[in-house]
Amino acid sequence: MNETIAVVGAGISGLLLARELKARGADVVVYEKSRGLGGRLATKRVEAAVFDSGAQYFTAKSERFAALVAAWAARGVVAPWPGASAHRWIAQPSMNALGKFLAEGLDVRRESKVVQVRREEDWWELTLEDQAAGRAGRLALTAPMPQSLALLQAGGVALPQTLAAELAALTYHPCLALLLTLAGPSAVPAEGVALADGPVRWVADNSKKGISPGRAAAVTVHLSAAFAAEHYAKSETELAALVLPGIASTLGAPVVKVALQRWKFSEPVAPHAQPCVWLPEMGLGLAGDALGGPRVEAAALSGLALAERMAASAGG
Ligand SMILES: Cc1cc2nc3c(=O)[nH]c(=O)nc-3n(C[C@H](O)[C@H](O)[C@H](O)COP(=O)(O)OP(=O)(O)OC[C@H]3O[C@@H](n4cnc5c(N)ncnc54)[C@H](O)[C@@H]3O)c2cc1C
Repeated sequence: MNETIAVVGAGISGLLLARELKARGADVVVYEKSRGLGGRLATKRVEAAVFDSGAQYFTAKSERFAALVAAWAARGVVAPWPGASAHRWIAQPSMNALGKFLAEGLDVRRESKVVQVRREEDWWELTLEDQAAGRAGRLALTAPMPQSLALLQAGGVALPQTLAAELAALTYHPCLALLLTLAGPSAVPAEGVALADGPVRWVADNSKKGISPGRAAAVTVHLSAAFAAEHYAKSETELAALVLPGIASTLGAPVVKVALQRWKFSEPVAPHAQPCVWLPEMGLGLAGDALGGPRVEAAALSGLALAERMAASAGG
C-alpha cells in the first residue's frame, strides 16, 4: 500500500492538516492549484498598492486555536490589527503570510490543479491538469465543498448516500471584492467598517492596516452576498458605477483605480455540524470551512480534527 497522504488545497485547513500529519511521521504531499498559499487568506498587489482581498482578520475563541495564534504571535507571524481590538488578528505583513509560514517544511506542489480523484484497489490516483498523475494511500480534500465533491464525481467515487446528500447541500455565498486605489488618504476608520444595509458589507483601508505602502489609500470593499449573487458577472467598471457613489463619504478621497476579485465560494451558507468527515474504509477525508463554520478559526479546527481522525485510524 502507498503510505503517502495527499492533501488537496493549501488553505489554512489543508496546511494545518498536513503539518499535523507530518509531525506525526506521515509522508504528506499537498496539491494547490494557485501560485499563492493560504487560500482565502489572500493578498493581492495592484501596481504599488497591496490589499488583503479575502479574509480581513481572524479571531481565536477556542483554546486550541488561541494557543496556535499565541505561538504565531510570539514568532511575529501574526499581530493584532492596528487600531482595532486585540481580538482581531492579522498576519504579518499581510494575510497570505500565514499560508507561506504554514507551508514551510511541507511538500507543497503549487500550480498543481487536481481535476479528478479515483479510488484504485487500495490507493488514490489524482489526475492533475498538465502534469503527471499523483498517487497516495490516503486522500484529504480541503477545497470548498462543491469543488471537493466535483473531484470525487469526476473520478466516479460514490460516497455513502446520506452523507453524499448532506455534503451536496453545503452551498456557498459568493463575494465580490473591489480593490480601490484612492488619490490620497481615506476617511475609512483604521479598524475598518462593517455596513449593515445596501450593496457594501465591509470597507477597510489597507494603508492604515499597515499593509500597503505610500500615501494613497488602498481600500478593500466587500460587497454583500445578495448583491454579489445578483451582479457576479459584472465588470469592475460596472460595479464601481453601481456601488462607489453610495460610499463616497466613507472613502473620503477620489478613486483613481479599481480592481476586482471574485470569490465564487466565499463563506458557507450553513456549515455541517461535524468538524470533518473521515471514511477509513475508503481512506478518504474532507475538511474545510463548510464542515467547521464560515471562519478562519473553524477551518483551522476542521483541518486539525481530520488530522486526529486520520492518525487515530492509522494506529498512531
Ligand atoms: C471575501 C472573504 C472575506 C472573509 N472574511 C473573513 C474574516 O474576516 N474572518 C474570518 O475568520 N474568515 C473570513 N472569511 C472566511 C475564511 O477566509 C475561510 O473560512 C477560510 O480561509 C477557509 O479556509 P479553507 O482552508 O477551508 O479553504 P480555502 O482557504 O479556500 O483553501 C482551499 C484551497 O484549495 C485550493 N483548491 C481548490 N480546488 C483545488 C483543486 N482542484 N486542486 C488543487 N487545489 C485546489 C484553493 O486554491 C485553496 O487554496 C472570508 C472569506 C472571504 C472569501
